[in-house]
Formats: sequence, structure tokens, C-alpha cells
Amino acid sequence: MSGAGDVILPGATLGVLGGGQLGRMWVQEAQAMGYFTVVLDADPTSPAGLVSHHHIRTGYEDPQGLAEMVRLCAAVTTEFENVPAASLDRLAQTLRVSPAGSAVAIAQDRAAEKAHFVRCGVPVAPHAVIATPGQLAAVTGDLLPGILKTARMGYDGKGQVRVQTLADLAAAWDDLGRVPCVLEKMLPLAHECSVIVARGQDGSVVHLPVQRNLHRDGILAVTEVFEGNLPPAQMDHALAAAKSVANGLQYVGVLCVEFFVLQDGSLVVNEIAPRPHNSGHYSQDACDVSQFELQLRAMTGLPLVQPRLHSPTIMLNLLGDLWFAQGEQPVTPDWAQVLALPGCHLHLYGKRDAKRGRKMGHLNVTGATPEAVRATALKAAAILGIAPF
Ligand code: ATP
Ligand code: MG
Repeated sequence: MSGAGDVILPGATLGVLGGGQLGRMWVQEAQAMGYFTVVLDADPTSPAGLVSHHHIRTGYEDPQGLAEMVRLCAAVTTEFENVPAASLDRLAQTLRVSPAGSAVAIAQDRAAEKAHFVRCGVPVAPHAVIATPGQLAAVTGDLLPGILKTARMGYDGKGQVRVQTLADLAAAWDDLGRVPCVLEKMLPLAHECSVIVARGQDGSVVHLPVQRNLHRDGILAVTEVFEGNLPPAQMDHALAAAKSVANGLQYVGVLCVEFFVLQDGSLVVNEIAPRPHNSGHYSQDACDVSQFELQLRAMTGLPLVQPRLHSPTIMLNLLGDLWFAQGEQPVTPDWAQVLALPGCHLHLYGKRDAKRGRKMGHLNVTGATPEAVRATALKAAAILGIAPF
């Protein structure tokens, strides 16, 4: 086992729990830096497994799979937030694991997550935990209209029901199987933003610039990053809040903190993702250090340097819907036409089957000015059948 201060240099083997697109891009960055990689994911066609040196095809709790991870790796991270925290803890008995299971466990539970934000003094939406019929009965109308969210296993707006009345709320809780939930008051959003921070074992923290995000149907659609995309006071507030959330967790690794910006300009933290995040993908092409490189630096003990945005940028998410623009039969989008535009960087995740709502890839657009980037991104969106923004 490496001591906390040791640096794990290129040439070593690093592992990731989870084989999705985030794991794939982490693997690609690790390999570019000269590391060998291990992916643990049961799916033989997982995006990360397909490009990794080693692919352990077991479930996240499989003792043999975890033992193999220990045998092969010098350090391990995660790319999928619902990896059992107990598996991370188990690996941490013999390996350097970042982020720690204790931090991931908090991010996995909306109720624990909200309590952590409150502890850090960061504003959250008015909310109530509903895990028992008594807690349901105690809810008052001032949380309505609201959104009932399952405490665990939600993503991309799944496990969420919008409720107008107390009767709606009771019915929605029944529909969700009476599992522990959090009811959040529906807030008047002006827009949404997020911050990616990376915290090292020595407690040093660096960050990517604040991202302005547009969601459609609960799924991230567009991220815009350039100077002036948000008022400076909002940016400062978001950065300070993100850092205090990371410090409060004694976090090691890349952490994304998502915020709502309300119509009165105030900021409310929504949730955290204990890993690189979709809203940080622009950093691959618009920053001198990507979020995936930050994860590698943090987990290996390499120095964390403050990333610099070298180009204004807009990221467009490429959902499976784009393959169905012409009807029921999937048709590959016209990448050649998109790539004829200046500053378009295509990232596809190697998923064979396009499905509506499935994240298939993203397009990072860079350019000399925010106006030029916007004009190009809108042209790319029109070619692909993405609604203008
Ligand atoms: P992901 O993990 O993909 O970020 P999620 O399923 O965890 O999504 P949330 O981030 O909680 O879900 O919500 C998804 C989106 O729904 C938000 O980005 C926001 O647009 C909207 N939303 C959620 N909660 C509220 C709220 N309290 N008031 C207004 N809009 C909300
Ligand atoms: Mg979210």
C-alpha cells in the first residue's frame, strides 16, 4: 500500500469502478499519460471496458473482482456514483481509493447530501425528508408546488415526480414505492450552473471555471463557458460554496457541485457528483488541464495545477434522439457536415445502440470569441436536429 504522500508515477496501473463514458474518457487520459488501466464493470461492451488494458467483468460487489482489482492496481477511483460505498471501503483497506467511500456515500443519498450542505453553511432549497408515513403527514403546503425525488439512485431526472398538492404528494410517494425521498420546493430558476473542483491529498484545491448549464427534460443539454457567462459575484459565490463542500468532506479527487441560480440572483446548491461530470467535458478541448487529468493527478498524488480556460466554449450533449431525427430506424448523424465547421471537437462513447435519452457523445465547440463559438454551436445544433438555445 502506498503512503498518503507517495506519488504514483506513470507506468503504474490504475483502476476505475464503472465502465461508462466517464470511465472511458478517464482511461483515455490515463493512457495518454502513460498509465495502465483496469476497468471493473460487468458489461462486456461497456464504453470504458472496450478501451482499457484490463477489463474485470464482474459486479461491483463481487469478491473475486475486487480481489483482482487489488492485485492489479496501485490506486482506484470511481466513475459511477452508485458504486456501493462498501466496495470502495473494502478496496481502501489495501489500496489508495479516491474519492473515499464515506464521501461517495453522502453523494448517494439526497437527504445526507442536503444535511452536508447545511453543515457547510451553503444554501439549499427548502425541503423535507419523507421516509415514513408520519413524515409525509407532517409536510405543509409551503413546500408546494414541489418535486419529490427518491433519496437514492436518481440520475438524469429519473426517480422524480412534480407535485402540486398534498394529495399529489401522497400519490407520488406511493408510485415511487414509498422509498425514502426528499421533497423539494419548486424554485423559480433563472438558470443553472456548476463548478468542478479537484482536491488533493494535501488539501490543495483547484477548479475549472464556472459552467452555465441548460437542462432539457431533466438532462443536461448545453454547457457554456466563457468570461462573462455569469455575473462575477455569482461566480465567486459558486466557487466559494463548491470549495467549502469539498473541504467539508475532506474530499480527494474531482467533485462537481451543481447549483440553481434563482430569478433574484441568489444561489442554491442542488447536488454533488463525486466524479468528473458531464458539465465538465468542455475542459477536454478548452482548458489546458481536463477534468479527467485532474482526477488522475489527485488520485496519484501528482501536483494539482490551476487549469486555465484558453478558449471560449460551448458543449452540446449528443443524445440518442439525434439518431432518430428521420423516423423509427436509427440513422447516423451527419458528422462530416458538423466537422466541416471550425472548432468542433467530436467525442463519441462507442455505444453501439442509440436510444432516446441515452448519452451517446458530446460536441465541444471552441473559437476565438463567445459570439463566434455561439454561431458555430447553433449551426452544429441545426445540422444535428438539436433545438436552438
Ligand atoms: P443529474 O444527476 O443528471 O444531474 P438528477 O436526476 O440528479 O440529475 P436533479 O439535478 O435533482 O436530478 O434535477 C434535474 C433537473 O430538474 C435540474 O437540473 C433542474 O433543471 C430541475 N429541478 C430539480 N429540482 C428543482 C427545484 N427544486 N426547482 C426547480 N427545478 C428543479
Ligand atoms: Mg442534477
